[in-house]
Amino acid sequence: MQIANDKVVMIHYTLTNEEGDLLDSSKDQDPLAYLHGFGNIIPGLEKALTGRSIGDTFKIEIAPEDGYGVRDNEMVQSVPRSAFEGVDDIEPGMQFQAQSPDGIQLVTVIDIDGDEVILDGNHPMAGITLHFDVEVTDIREATHEELEHGHVHGAGGHHH
Ligand code: ZN
Repeated sequence: MQIANDKVVMIHYTLTNEEGDLLDSSKDQDPLAYLHGFGNIIPGLEKALTGRSIGDTFKIEIAPEDGYGVRDNEMVQSVPRSAFEGVDDIEPGMQFQAQSPDGIQLVTVIDIDGDEVILDGNHPMAGITLHFDVEVTDIREATHEELEHGHVHGAGGHHH
């Protein structure tokens, strides 16, 4: 069986940046399960997996455009500290969910300037060229329910 739209695919992966620093890995966990063709994973990786078979291993470099996006400086903004009701110690690196016109957005505190908190709404991995080392561990047909929901159920996927 080859990877194509509507297949459930399981992969082990290691993700590093240009410098070779480890960013993420499925090692020591269950493989990642995703539904191919539904945008469950970043576009560059989904494209690279198309047509692969169980047991295939490959390395791929993915530009930010096909990964977590390019950095947008307009997504960096300053908010008064008073907007963080109930949060006593705001420190760089803290992440919050913010309501935006596009829905819930994850923002990261990157700096604090007096009474102003500088927030970055870019994905933490935006602007990074991604280096994936991938192994395809399983491929199966998706169930009707999985196709309706647009994600995988069971091992490595959603439990609900
Ligand atoms: Zn579901």
